[in-house]
Amino acid sequence: MLGDIDRILLAQDHIQQRIGELARQIAADHMPPSVPDGSAITIIPVLTGAMVFCADLIRQLPLRLRISLMTVSSYPGASTQTQGSQILMQRIDGIRGRHVLLIDDILDSGGTLRLVRQSLLKHEPAGLKTCVLLRKPTAGARQTPVDYVGFDIPDEFVVGYGLDYDDYYRNLPDIVTLKRHVIEGAIAR
Ligand code: 5GP
Ligand code: MG
Repeated sequence: MLGDIDRILLAQDHIQQRIGELARQIAADHMPPSVPDGSAITIIPVLTGAMVFCADLIRQLPLRLRISLMTVSSYPGASTQTQGSQILMQRIDGIRGRHVLLIDDILDSGGTLRLVRQSLLKHEPAGLKTCVLLRKPTAGARQTPVDYVGFDIPDEFVVGYGLDYDDYYRNLPDIVTLKRHVIEGAIAR
């Protein structure tokens, strides 16, 4: 698995340091009067990719919070191009009147965030903010407003720290690119 790595784009220490900064900003924005004293916020990671980021972020957030889950598929199998997003599972009871923070791993075309936002807004939360660890410089990303961004990265296919290729590599601690021969079958498709 380590032999498939082309280069490290973001090393784990760098990621952790930025998550600390994001957490401080998110905590400050969710204090009274923005969020009433004593009320909890609901964090919703878009699974599976945002799982690792969310786990690290919430442990730096000194807020009263609950977690709901949502699974979205955008890259079925060995593909590096989005095939259109689809909500596969939601477990989001009781967000009506609550402040929600939606968390995704990466903003690319924006299709995933648009789909999930629309779906959550139907439940009438008191507020809905969005946070992505990574953002690519695409037209779709530019047109998709997002409240918190960890890193702006080049338009390259990355894996690790929760992000997958064909459901592998999520457990790499760094965010990396893969050697061409590993993904070229999918690129040619
Ligand atoms: P969007 O819907 O904004 O086009 O894409 C968002 C989703 O596509 C992300 O949640 C992620 O699952 C996937 N994605 C986009 N770019 C990449 C990438 O470079 N690497 C990986 N592993 N997934 C990506
Ligand atoms: Mg995803």
